[in-house]
Amino acid sequence: MKFIQTIFFLLLAFTFTNCKNKTKAEVIEETTVEIPKLKALILDGENNHGIWPKTTFMMKSYLEETGLFEVDINRKAFTWIGPHYNEIEGVDDINKLLEMYPLNDGVERTAVEETKKDLNFSPDFNKYDVVISNLGWKSSHWPDTTKTNFENYMKNGGGLVIVHAANNAWGDWDEFNKMIGLGAWGDRDVNSGPYIFYNDKGEVEQDPSEGICASHGAQYEFQLQTRAVDHPIMKGLPEFWMHTKDEMYDRMRGHGENMTILATAYSDIEKNAPPWMKDVSGTGRHEPLLMAIDYGKGKVFHSALGHMDYSFECAGFITTFQRGAEWAATGNVTQEIPKDFPSADSTSVRKWAYKPVN
Ligand SMILES: [Zn+2]
Repeated sequence: MKFIQTIFFLLLAFTFTNCKNKTKAEVIEETTVEIPKLKALILDGENNHGIWPKTTFMMKSYLEETGLFEVDINRKAFTWIGPHYNEIEGVDDINKLLEMYPLNDGVERTAVEETKKDLNFSPDFNKYDVVISNLGWKSSHWPDTTKTNFENYMKNGGGLVIVHAANNAWGDWDEFNKMIGLGAWGDRDVNSGPYIFYNDKGEVEQDPSEGICASHGAQYEFQLQTRAVDHPIMKGLPEFWMHTKDEMYDRMRGHGENMTILATAYSDIEKNAPPWMKDVSGTGRHEPLLMAIDYGKGKVFHSALGHMDYSFECAGFITTFQRGAEWAATGNVTQEIPKDFPSADSTSVRKWAYKPVN
């Protein structure tokens, strides 16, 4: 669907010769100007978070409702609904999500039990101002040429948004690891880089010790702390805000080159301990959950938030996602802070409903 933004210029022409009777002397000229939208591309099709067909459409509508973006979706040829998901409201079989959120693009796709490399995967990245990855843990590798094309697209000023498990993908793709600053799982280990976090004194610290890459506890509502108050994505946001139920990633590893930590959350030793791993606790550190990374001339917004659809419905998630995508695309943020942004002690939920587009 083509969106056209219309601006009305009112040109007032005054006649000074006969002021007394010239109340209608203004000549109003109406001019229509088309302002090009930013072009965004969402990549999906393989994610251990089986909710992905829905979260892709959520992200598409979040971007479109800013009035700034038009959004395409590139879905992999071999679709994989992963094993990790929680109960989804109104859905008894997670595989039905693919039918509920179809692309209707005439492309035939095959659902697979294990992720499978698509040798023809080759989006034209250069058509887009920003690429959003909804490809998660175990996503298949892209063909080498596609990887190189993407690296060049980013080095030359492209934009990338990483959401939650998108940072689990491709631990052995060095350039991707540089783009995302910090990664989780994906066979990452001490060689992937140190743990990076804020300490209680408000300083960024690195810990190069050995140990697992990434963990999280059971899901709960937790508080984000803004760290980069002057960054365009964060400017005007409160210092503290409550996020809806989600996983809190901790122990992410990476070199964090050219990375600004935008916001952190505190991983409590007990509360963020995975109940399914008796020898792992929370970290007692303030863990980076929103990051901005410069990669060549390109820009990356990385949000580790977003485990489930209800996590996406947080007004804080939505706002930072929308602002982060604009920043990754242009380097600026023009959006206002919404009135329903969460406060330090209460969450703010925007219930999302699918509105099919013809
Ligand atoms: Zn998750």
